[in-house]
Amino acid sequence: MSFILEKDKKIQIIDTVDIVVIGGGPAGIATAVTAGEQGMKTLIIEKNGFFGGANVAGYSGTIGGLYSSAEDGNIEQIVYGFAEKFVDLLKENNGIVEKVKFGHTALAPHDPFVWKEVADQLIKEANVNVLFHTSFVDVIMEENKITGIIIENKDGRSAIMGKICIDATGDGDVAAKAGAPYVYGKDGVIQAMTMAFRMANVDWEKASKYSLEDIWEKVAEADQTRKYNLPRKHPFIFPLPRKDQAMMNCTAIIGENDQVLYPTKTNDLTYAEFAGREQIREYERFVKDYLEGFEDAYVIDTASQIGIRQGRTILGEYTLKNEDVVNAKKFDTAIARSAWPIEIHGGSKGVKVVNLDDDYYEIPFEVMLPQKIEGMMMVGRCISAEHEALASARVVAQCFEEGFAAGYAAVLCVKENIMPKEVEVQKVRTFMIEKGSRL
Ligand SMILES: Cc1cc2nc3c(=O)[nH]c(=O)nc-3n(C[C@H](O)[C@H](O)[C@H](O)COP(=O)(O)OP(=O)(O)OC[C@H]3O[C@@H](n4cnc5c(N)ncnc54)[C@H](O)[C@@H]3O)c2cc1C
Repeated sequence: MSFILEKDKKIQIIDTVDIVVIGGGPAGIATAVTAGEQGMKTLIIEKNGFFGGANVAGYSGTIGGLYSSAEDGNIEQIVYGFAEKFVDLLKENNGIVEKVKFGHTALAPHDPFVWKEVADQLIKEANVNVLFHTSFVDVIMEENKITGIIIENKDGRSAIMGKICIDATGDGDVAAKAGAPYVYGKDGVIQAMTMAFRMANVDWEKASKYSLEDIWEKVAEADQTRKYNLPRKHPFIFPLPRKDQAMMNCTAIIGENDQVLYPTKTNDLTYAEFAGREQIREYERFVKDYLEGFEDAYVIDTASQIGIRQGRTILGEYTLKNEDVVNAKKFDTAIARSAWPIEIHGGSKGVKVVNLDDDYYEIPFEVMLPQKIEGMMMVGRCISAEHEALASARVVAQCFEEGFAAGYAAVLCVKENIMPKEVEVQKVRTFMIEKGSRL
């Protein structure tokens, strides 16, 4: 291996803010909007040119986690607050299909463009400053406290100072750079990535008769002919608000020799983008040949980037345990409910779903507080949770509620001149409940 020394550079501090949010996925949006609405000087940076993260750029395509779970299908909404506010705006703009059955619960598929518009609207109304096309590259620290971040974009490198930083990168980039301890899944094994895509010209009058289980039987039938290469045996297909479109969450990216692929390794991401696109034509061929209503359908586009389910898990003051999830544990410091199944995409090992029926568990505030590091919180899919627990807690409604809680906690930090670990969580809960959350 050979090395060069990068020159020391003097870089400009381009802004000093109360709250800086890094990453504009569901968790980052909820955080930034909440902080902005409370009058904080808030800045959000995002490496894409739009908001939505894995839910939009990765076409995960549906809002999961809103509903309870019951074997008999008798379910109700259990998550409200920011999640409901976002869903209501999607509804107003004809951008969401409500309550599509998913196992023992339900999800709500949305139009990716309307999602972007709703996020733009909320961010603007909350007076949040935005830097798109901007990557977080490093932290500025005073001992173990983050005091700012270094970013890079077309203007070059620059610094932003912030009283509180929120890591909403999904992969825990900020916490990791700051030196917070982290793990990858269970013994380094994380969930498989997926390249999702959309099809148009679907005749849903015919195609809606298929349950997911029916589609999986058709995959097994097609496999027997040996004429198709369908590495994922349990694809998910959902109707979209545009009435001839389908969201196709079908592929599974499996590394060469079954090796685990990491979203924090650029070679793995590059491999996944190629492999994902290659699989899409096979699933297109399969649905056209095997599913009534798809005969004349065609691929209109793919996710703009590979869909990432799991990256670094930052270890927090509390780690949500697998047993908390299956035993429906409640917490005095709860900031979100969830009855989403433990949904693990194991690549070559297939998809495993464990339903959580007739009750819900809660996510406590402390999963957002990194060990050892001050001045920051993490939200979304990089919160502190055991592998199976995260396979449930990672979905969008819960990311929204975590962002809602972290956004207000950050406001309290600025107003009371305290660190996130000193926040009185009951104040956060009171705020959330007043604004519609059910806890
Ligand atoms: C294929 C697939 C299907 C899924 N299906 C569903 C589903 O049906 N329902 C559901 O509710 N959930 C689903 N999920 C899960 C859900 O989409 C994610 O868990 C959720 O989007 C996580 O939100 P987040 O805000 O934590 O992170 P992300 O959505 O990953 O957002 C992180 C954001 O940070 C940005 N970012 C990252 N690093 C940097 C950096 N260094 N600098 C600047 N910006 C950065 C990214 O560009 C991104 O916009 C699915 C996920 C996948 C991949």
